[in-house]
Amino acid sequence: MDSLGRVNAEIVDCFKCPRLVAWREKVAAEKRAAFRDEEYWGRPVPGFGDPHASLLIVGLAPAAHGGNRTGRVFTGDRSGDWLYGALYRAGYANQPTSVHADDGLELKGAYVAAAVRCAPPDNKPTPAEREMCLPYLERELALLVDVRVIVVLGQFAYDVMARMLGVRPKPKFGHGVEVPVPNAERTIVCSFHPSQQNTFTGKLTEEMFDAVFRQARVMTSMKR
Ligand code: SF4
Repeated sequence: MDSLGRVNAEIVDCFKCPRLVAWREKVAAEKRAAFRDEEYWGRPVPGFGDPHASLLIVGLAPAAHGGNRTGRVFTGDRSGDWLYGALYRAGYANQPTSVHADDGLELKGAYVAAAVRCAPPDNKPTPAEREMCLPYLERELALLVDVRVIVVLGQFAYDVMARMLGVRPKPKFGHGVEVPVPNAERTIVCSFHPSQQNTFTGKLTEEMFDAVFRQARVMTSMKR
């Protein structure tokens, strides 16, 4: 029988994409100067959170010096600061920071995953790499039976989830857009990705990001 533990064990031991394996290991060997004394994870990054989550958050892929360094998704970079800060304020996390894999962070009611599990060069996996990695997310989704709301961070995650869940025609991506999943008690909620490109320019503000998780909280409460 499948389980989240089994999926995660397979993810961290995956070598299916030669380009991404080479990249994740190169980054881990060369390191960023600020982290030169740390040992990088340098492997695929599994999902993290509550197995009974009603909220699933799906990002693009681990950051080279974030998840690829710490081994936990959205941990150790600015995007993670934004995500876990928002989850804390919405009552899904026990602390607002996510610095390293043993920092005591726990999620209640939420699970965080990504479409692609290895850090890609320029944050751009190829279509073939995306397809190779998707079965992991499909299995997680099947195992997270209590999930009612899926917050997708950015267009890439939206495209992946909409296709996986058979959303046709696909509504245009936009911050806060709700997309019902056909034949399921699930809804996709779109959010701009908390990348520095979005947060530094003001395209995504803390207030806008918090609103998405307030929206998710209300929706999961209503559907229970
Ligand atoms: S991206 Fe996914 S499929 Fe490819 S090597 Fe990493 S974990 Fe495996």
